[in-house]
Amino acid sequence: MFKPVMTAAVAVGCLAHVALAQEVAELDDTIEATAKALIEAARVDEVGLTFVEDLTTEVGQRLAGSEAEQRARDWSVAELNELGFDAVRVEAFDIPFWSRKSEAVAVLTPSPQELVATALGGSAATPKDGVSGPVVRFESLADLQSAPVSKVDGKIVFIDEYTIKTMDGSGYGMGVRKRSGCAKATSDKGGLACLIRSVGTQPHRMPHTGIMARDGAEGDGPVAAISGPDADQLTRLLARGPVTVSVNIQTEIKTNAPSGNVIAEVTGTDLRDEIVLLGCHLDSWDLGTGALDDGAGCGIVVGAAKLIAELPERPRRTIRVVLYGAEEVGLFGATAYAREHGDDLDKHVLASESDFGAGPIWRFQTRFGEAALPYARTIQNLLIPLGVTPGDNRARGGPDIGILARSGVPVVTPGQNGIDYFDYHHTPDDTFDKIDPDEFRQNVAVYAAFAYVATETGWDFRKQPEPETVGTE
Ligand SMILES: [Zn+2]
Repeated sequence: MFKPVMTAAVAVGCLAHVALAQEVAELDDTIEATAKALIEAARVDEVGLTFVEDLTTEVGQRLAGSEAEQRARDWSVAELNELGFDAVRVEAFDIPFWSRKSEAVAVLTPSPQELVATALGGSAATPKDGVSGPVVRFESLADLQSAPVSKVDGKIVFIDEYTIKTMDGSGYGMGVRKRSGCAKATSDKGGLACLIRSVGTQPHRMPHTGIMARDGAEGDGPVAAISGPDADQLTRLLARGPVTVSVNIQTEIKTNAPSGNVIAEVTGTDLRDEIVLLGCHLDSWDLGTGALDDGAGCGIVVGAAKLIAELPERPRRTIRVVLYGAEEVGLFGATAYAREHGDDLDKHVLASESDFGAGPIWRFQTRFGEAALPYARTIQNLLIPLGVTPGDNRARGGPDIGILARSGVPVVTPGQNGIDYFDYHHTPDDTFDKIDPDEFRQNVAVYAAFAYVATETGWDFRKQPEPETVGTE
């Protein structure tokens, strides 16, 4: 059984109010019955979960541009063909490639000890023997940026800023700012290297990687994240007096490496030129096996599309599954897709992506044309038994379909409970055992139901109010 999230009970209490306040579009009885049957089928679905298990076991980590990411594409093409998808293909592109060779951070004085650390993606290498120097601590990136050069010159910077745990992942944004900005701010002021408190939220000695801001393969300076407990230790040492540390990061970079988007379809019938896009990303960071980020997302959208493919009748619109490449290192797959399909974006009637782990979906967020909002409410009503509450109409899409949303493609963002997502994301702990099968299947059910309704109804999710009604709101 699905485990309802706490917010579901709250939402049920508000339903009468929501139903009164929101216009609902009429749904054909057969479509409604089939959507409900898809939800039931998802409760026992094996395809999606098996996809993640096999991908993370048989391929493992899938660093963008690496030989492993290439194997993931080959594996996915074979698997999607095996599952009976149509038009399975790879749309290839090149990316700047970065990978870690080695990394070591240690306290030299007053008490020699290693700190658990990982280089951020795109970190510059240090000289072969590393760098060492006194540590200067800042509580935020802004503090570093406003510090005088004399405070940073010749030192190793430490930004000791926490990530706040939130259900919607909003605490991550601040973490990403320090990850992006530290190396440049440090090197601009003559600093030797930057250490940041890991952006992740877990209390264990698991450092959290992620891309830094950079042009090409490599950024402005050496930068590493130390785990939360190691950041605590460094802070305690600094409270007792001066501390010197050493940082040694060695990398491999290439200006061009192969990546690509893997695409598979369930071809529609009378509306086959119209596309409902379901996305995820195939690449992962190299520390874990990328089970939550984003093997789960790929399993969810593949599982959902496969359930629709198994219906007695083919869907009216085409369901296109896109396993984006090279998301983690700069959204290269998203950019390549928009470039490749720029001329037919008006044929993309709806896009959605799963890239926030496998926690239960609790709200149905959209970005539809104003006159299409009753469609959102109708679909969300179907999802009430899954604990899904109404969301706003300000969804931005995820990292990979954001570019489509900004081009006017309507999007659905099923909001997941990600309260513990950043405990695992981008760390060695992002492994298959962290996926709760019931919560995962709840996601498959949501995607299958809304994608099916979107294909069968032929609804126009871009729909705007008639001109004469615009002034009446
Ligand atoms: Zn991701």
